[in-house]
Amino acid sequence: MIRLYLSDSPDFAPGLGLTLPPEQGRYLAAVMRKGVGDEIAVFNGRDGEWKATLIEVGKKTVRIALIEQTRPQPAGQGPVLLIALIKRSRLETIIEKVTELGAAKIQLLITRRSNADHTNVERLRLIAQEAAEQTERLDVPEILAPVKLEKLLADMPYDAVFFGDEDSTHETDKATRPMLDALKATEGSNPSLSAILVGPEGGFDEVERDTLRGLANVHPVNLGPRILRADTAAISALTLYQAAVGDWR
Ligand code: SAH
Repeated sequence: MIRLYLSDSPDFAPGLGLTLPPEQGRYLAAVMRKGVGDEIAVFNGRDGEWKATLIEVGKKTVRIALIEQTRPQPAGQGPVLLIALIKRSRLETIIEKVTELGAAKIQLLITRRSNADHTNVERLRLIAQEAAEQTERLDVPEILAPVKLEKLLADMPYDAVFFGDEDSTHETDKATRPMLDALKATEGSNPSLSAILVGPEGGFDEVERDTLRGLANVHPVNLGPRILRADTAAISALTLYQAAVGDWR
């Protein structure tokens, strides 16, 4: 079944008629060869998944009518991924994979060693949307435009931040805990908004690391004895989170 995300739709209701945005209309008519009477699934991130039928398929206009809800909108919320800007191809991989894994949002970050050139946030949003459609998620993680790490820390909108601290890997005194232990330790306090923080290819610098380690709701964690690339670190950390305290249980 084809699934389309309708980002700016009004609230879904039985019988509601909608004209599709031109891109999506073209996709259904010209690429997928759908005709009047064919059924698709649609979601808007708020009202669950709905069955819809094509009621008009023209060169310029494709219209659908909603039939009924097939899945309710899930209440649960995954963690937010805070990711430093890195090389485009790896960043795109991260967006796709963490969307599949259930990240609630993705906040792009500028850090001292991030590679901030040429980040096309709109393209990243499209990748998240396509991954959500493909993976049968009923919402699309918001991609938040890059902010400086200092600014984010000053605002600190999260109850718990699991900070992938690769330096700990080399330390004998084990300044940080394995991520699984940190997750289990915070589970009792039931943080309502958690985030996972992963640095750029060059890692965090000393000042950033010291600042992060000094904050009460930031939990420095390690992801094993090897240095992972940022994409591997993001995917592994999200997997651990979902398995330990998230929606894989
Ligand atoms: N260039 C850096 C490595 C950066 S890896 C160096 O050589 O030290 C990119 C990011 O992935 C890191 O900033 C960290 O957030 C995360 N990461 C990688 N390996 C990790 C590990 N073993 N434990 C925790 N975080 C890790």
